[in-house]
Amino acid sequence: MTTKIGSTVLGYPRIGPNRELKRALESYWASRSSETELRDVARQLRVDTWRSLKDAGLDSVPGNTFSYYDQVLDTAVTFGAVPARYTELGLNPLDTYFAMARGVESTPPLEMTKWFDTNYHYLVPEIGPDTRFALSDRTPVEQYLEAAELGVTTRPVLVGPLTFLLLSKSAEGAPGSFRPLDKLDELLAAYAELLGELKRAGAEWVQLDEPAFAADRTQAELDALRAAYRKLGDLQERPNLLVTGYFGDLGDALEVLASAPVEALGVDLVAGTSTVDKLSTLSGLRDKTLVAGLVDGRNIWRTNLDRALTTGATLLGLAGELAVSTSCSLLHVPYDVEAEAQIDPQVKSWLAFAAQKVREVVVLGRALREGRDAVADDLAEAAAAVADRAGAERIRNNRVRARLQSLRPEHSRRNDYALRQQAQEKSLRLPPLPTTTIGSFPQTTDVRKARAELRNGTIDDAAYKQRMRDEIQRVIKLQEDLGLDVLVHGEPERNDMVQYFSELLEGFVSTHKGWVQSYGSRCVRPPILFGDVSRPKPMTVEWATYAQKLTEKPVKGMLTGPVTILAWSFVRDDQPLADTAKQVALAIRDEVHDLEAAGIRVVQVDEPALRELLPLRSVQHKEYLDWAVESFRLATSGVADSTQIHTHLCYSEFGDVINAIVALEADVTSIEAARSRMEVLADLNAVGFAKGVGPGVYDIHSPRVPETEEVTALLRAALEAVPAQRLWVNPDCGLKTRGYTEVNAALKNMISATAAVRPTL
Ligand code: GLN
Ligand code: ZN
Repeated sequence: MTTKIGSTVLGYPRIGPNRELKRALESYWASRSSETELRDVARQLRVDTWRSLKDAGLDSVPGNTFSYYDQVLDTAVTFGAVPARYTELGLNPLDTYFAMARGVESTPPLEMTKWFDTNYHYLVPEIGPDTRFALSDRTPVEQYLEAAELGVTTRPVLVGPLTFLLLSKSAEGAPGSFRPLDKLDELLAAYAELLGELKRAGAEWVQLDEPAFAADRTQAELDALRAAYRKLGDLQERPNLLVTGYFGDLGDALEVLASAPVEALGVDLVAGTSTVDKLSTLSGLRDKTLVAGLVDGRNIWRTNLDRALTTGATLLGLAGELAVSTSCSLLHVPYDVEAEAQIDPQVKSWLAFAAQKVREVVVLGRALREGRDAVADDLAEAAAAVADRAGAERIRNNRVRARLQSLRPEHSRRNDYALRQQAQEKSLRLPPLPTTTIGSFPQTTDVRKARAELRNGTIDDAAYKQRMRDEIQRVIKLQEDLGLDVLVHGEPERNDMVQYFSELLEGFVSTHKGWVQSYGSRCVRPPILFGDVSRPKPMTVEWATYAQKLTEKPVKGMLTGPVTILAWSFVRDDQPLADTAKQVALAIRDEVHDLEAAGIRVVQVDEPALRELLPLRSVQHKEYLDWAVESFRLATSGVADSTQIHTHLCYSEFGDVINAIVALEADVTSIEAARSRMEVLADLNAVGFAKGVGPGVYDIHSPRVPETEEVTALLRAALEAVPAQRLWVNPDCGLKTRGYTEVNAALKNMISATAAVRPTL
C-alpha cells in the first residue's frame, strides 16, 4: 500500500525569507566567506523549510527544492552533463558549478533564458552526441537523508528527463541533425540509477516535473514522453512516481501521462483552464493519485477556497486518491505576507504568499477528506476575505472604467507614417544616422545613496530632487560633449523601470520584503496591481523638461509600456489581462500627452517584455498579441504627427512576435542586434517593417568597449539591409548596469563610427 500524498506543494522558495542565500552567495563569490560558511547557510535554509512545511501540516513535503543557483543547472550536474570547458578549469565541484552559472574570466557561463512564461531564468544545458550521462552528484539523495535525519520524510523533486532535454541546446559542434532528445535513452539510464538510490535511501515518492508539455509539442516528443515513463515506470527498484506538468493545460500529454505506469499525476488547474473537463474523460486515473493544483503557485491572491472545493469535488471519484496542491512550485511567490508591515491592511488581507498558500492547501485537503466542518473557521475567513476584495470600493475607479468603455478605434490610430515622418523631420532636424541611447545612464553609488537617504529620512524631498537634477545636468553635458543627437535624462530617479511607475500610479501597492528569485542571487520585488489603474499626476514630466531646458537638442521622454508593467508585477486576477493592460495604457497615454505639451518632441515607450508574456501555446498567441499591440498603440497614439514615438525591445530573436512589432507602429524601434550581427534587420524586412530602426551596435551586457572599426563594420552591415533614412545608431540596451569609464569610451567610439560612415551615404 502506497502512502498517500494528501496535501502538498510542488516546490518552495529557497532564497531565504531575508534573502539569506543571496547574501551568502555574494559573500562567497567575493571571497569574503568560505565554502563551509555558505554550506551552513544553505543547510539552515533547507532545515527551516522542511520543518515549517511539516509543521504547517502538509502530508507530503517536497524535497530537493533547494538550489545554490538553479534547478536545471543542478540537474545537468547531477547527471554529469558538464561541458568539458568547465571541468578543464580544474576547480572543485562547487566552483565548477558556479563557473557554469556565472563564468570565470577565461570561460563565459552557460546561456541563461526564461523558465517558460515566468520571470525566473534557468541555465541552458548543452548536450552533444558525446555527452556521457552518469550519476555524478548525489545531492538529491544526500538531501533526502539530511531531511530524514530531522524526522521529515521528503518527496525529492527533479526536473523530468523530457523537460530537461527539451530545454537543453545542442552543444557547439554537434551535427545539424542532432537533437538533445536523441540522448533520451542514455539519460533515462542515469535517472533510473538515481531513482534506485533514492529508493534504497528510503524515499517513498519522487516528483518529476514535466512543464515542457504545457507548451506545443510534436507527436515525436509525445511519443518520447510515453516511452520514457513506460521505461521509468517499469523499473524494478524505484520510489512511487508523481509526474507533474504545470503552467497550463497538458494537451495530448495529459492522456499520455494518465495512462503511464506511474502512481500519481499532478495538474495545474489554475493556468490549465480546460484540464478539469478533460480529466473526466480519462480512464487511466482510477488506480492513480491525482494531485490537483488548486492553489495558484504564481500569483499572490488568496484562493477562493469555496470555488477550489467545488472543483475538487468534481474530481473526487475520478482517481484512486485526490490530493491537493499548488498549481506549480511556490518558487515564484514571496515567502510570507506576515512579514509585510507596511502594506495597507485591507489589501494585505487579500494576499497569500508561500506560507499562506501552504496553509490553504492544508485546509483544502482536510475539507475534501473530512468535510467542510472540519475547517469551517478557515473557510469562513477565506470567504470573507474574497468577498471583501470583490466588493471593495478601492479596486474600482468609475472614471477609468467609463473611459475604457468610451474608447473608439481612432484612439489607437495615428495618421499615416508618411505624414508623421514629414512633420518629425521638420520638427527634429536630425542628421542622417541619428545617434541616441536607450535611456538609462550608469546608476552611480551617489545616485543610489541619494535614494537610500531619502528612504531613511537623512535627506528631504527637496535635497533629493536637487541631487537628481545635478545628475541629469551631468548626463546632459556628457551627451552634448560626446555629440549625441537625441539625448536622454538618464533615469537616475528610477530604482527600476516598473517599480518607479507602480509607485506613482493608483491601483498598485509595493511590498517591503516580497522578493522573488529571478536568477541565481538576483531577486526582484514585483509590485502588486490590485485595482483599477489611474495616474493622479504626471510622473516623469518634471525630469524630462528639466533635462530639455539644459539643451537645444531633443530630449527623449522615457516611459515603460503597459505589457512590461504587467509582466513584471503581480496582477489582479479578477478581470481579463487585456482590460488591465488598457487601463495602464490610458495612464501612459496621459503621460505621453503631458510630455508633448511640455515641449518634449520624442517619447520612448519601452516594451522589453513583449515576448515574455507570449502564451506557451500558439493557439493563444493571437489573442495576446492583439491586446498587447492594442495597448501599446492606445498609449502612444494620442500625439501630434510631429511627436516621434520610439520603442525599445530587449531581444533579437523575435520569432512569433515579429508581426506584432510591425503592428506597434512606433516611428523608431531600437532592438538588440550586436550579438547577432544585425541579422534581425533581415527578419524585419521579411515582414515588411519599414520604419525607423536602431539595431544595437554594441552589447551593453558586457564591460567590453567596442572598437570604432567594429561599430563601423556593423553600421555598414546594417546599411546593407536598411536605407540610411531609416537607420538609427544606439547601444543594445540601457546603460544602467555599466560604469562611466566604459560608457564614455564606448559611446565615443559609437559616435566616431557614425561620423566615419555618414560621408559615404
Ligand atoms: N529605458 C530603459 C533603460 O535604458 C530600458 C531598459 C530595458 O530595456 N530593460 O534602462
Ligand atoms: Zn533593453
